[in-house]
Amino acid sequence: MYKAKQGGKDRHELFAEEMQASAFEELELKSALVRAVENDEFVLHYQPIVDMGTGMIRGVEALVRWEDPTRGMVSPASFIPIAEETGLIRQIGMWVAQQAARDVALWRRDGHELYVSVNVSGRQMEQNDFVADFTRAIRGAGAHPSHIVVELTESVLADNGAAELFSELRREGFRIALDDFGTGFSALQYLQNFDIDLIKIDRSFVQALGQTGNTGVVQAVLDMARTVGAATVAEGIEDTAEQRMLKDLGVDLGQGYYFSRPVPAARLVQLLDEERGLIPSEEASGIS
Ligand code: C2E
Ligand code: CA
Ligand code: CA
Repeated sequence: MYKAKQGGKDRHELFAEEMQASAFEELELKSALVRAVENDEFVLHYQPIVDMGTGMIRGVEALVRWEDPTRGMVSPASFIPIAEETGLIRQIGMWVAQQAARDVALWRRDGHELYVSVNVSGRQMEQNDFVADFTRAIRGAGAHPSHIVVELTESVLADNGAAELFSELRREGFRIALDDFGTGFSALQYLQNFDIDLIKIDRSFVQALGQTGNTGVVQAVLDMARTVGAATVAEGIEDTAEQRMLKDLGVDLGQGYYFSRPVPAARLVQLLDEERGLIPSEEASGIS
């Protein structure tokens, strides 16, 4: 607005046109998303979560993708916010839970010991009987809650009624991860009030560590995790330097392009069948 005023009438009109275009685009995206839910246009990709020392796969994070017939593969960053706004996240979230549970049940039946992490947003938890429906979906798909990690963010835990839902999930046997740890403003409070199994150290801290070599912040997070008895997962590890530093600091698990990008289920099965660690050899990563 301010810019438009500075530039006079022409600028103002241009601004209005741009606004309209994006409002229209959003409307279009909303109705496409309604169709996507009806037509089952979603797929899950799985990103390995590995032992920092050996690179062996301990779990995977289920990450939803939308295969739109005209747009191609749409990233969750662009449609999850709209799904939350419209409430469609409830249906999408249940589909994700069912599919992830079906897949992890199959992998475990084939002898692979791993868990699947599922992202749950605040809007989903607001639904009446959320925990009962979620548990039914997981069990109905043949999985046990102890093989599922529910990823929640600090903002979800800040909501009214979160404590009750949290303990219901625990009672059903789900494990809980605190996602994007450190990006909110009262992380400590949540560690004190909630019994968290896993802390996911946000990629921004991993990046900062790689760039500066300052271990202080990650060390502090690890101390906190130890105090409350939670395991740690470092997110967004992209290179050998980051992997080494985090391993030396004592982070338990790692996730990031360095080990593997999120992959379709069929590819994940290949990785599991190979039964080898995903730490690239030094030669392969260009360091000798
Ligand atoms: P998130 O939960 O923090 O998931 C991690 C994101 O980081 C994923 O993006 C993943 O592909 C990306 N990532 C992993 N390793 C690296 C790395 O080494 N470097 C970089 N630059 N990025 C890395 P993705 O798949 O685009 O998902 C984005 C966000 O969408 C997720 O962030 C999550 O908040 C949301 N999301 C994804 N699937 C679901 C879902 O099923 N339900 C809900 N409610 N949200 C979901
Ligand atoms: Ca997550
Ligand atoms: Ca995250």
